[in-house]
Parts: sequence; structure tokens; C-alpha cells
Amino acid sequence: MRTMPEETKTCGKECRLMFGPGRTTCAYYPPVYDKHGNNLNPDGNVTSGDCSCGTCGKQWVYSTQYGETTYKEI
Ligand SMILES: [Zn+2]
Repeated sequence: MRTMPEETKTCGKECRLMFGPGRTTCAYYPPVYDKHGNNLNPDGNVTSGDCSCGTCGKQWVYSTQYGETTYKEI
């Protein structure tokens, strides 16, 4: 499941978010594992771009890092 913008929670419509092409930073995060196989240095690159709701027409810029997405309405 992906985090959705706050505004979609209060929107009474069935929001459908469409994501445009994203831009991803390309720093190298060399994997470091502990003895249990957990990666201690996960990929921290940031993907950002625009998305919009085809139902209510709202638009956001989004930013995703470590699987967490934040949004800002535009
Ligand atoms: Zn919507």
C-alpha cells in the first residue's frame, strides 16, 4: 500500500491518482548487512515528481524516500 495525500482522505470522491514521470537521485548506497541479513544501509535515493487526481482534478508534487511518500498540493 502506498501513502496517499491527506486531501484524498477528506475528498468524498473516488480519487484516482496518476503519477507522471519521476526523477530519482542516483547516489550509491553500498549495502551493509548485519548477521541476520538486515540491510543497514538501504537505498536512500529520493524520487520526486507530479501526480494528479483524475476524479477531482487536484495536483500534488510528491517525494518518496525509504518507501515513504510525502505530498504537497499545488
Ligand atoms: Zn480526488
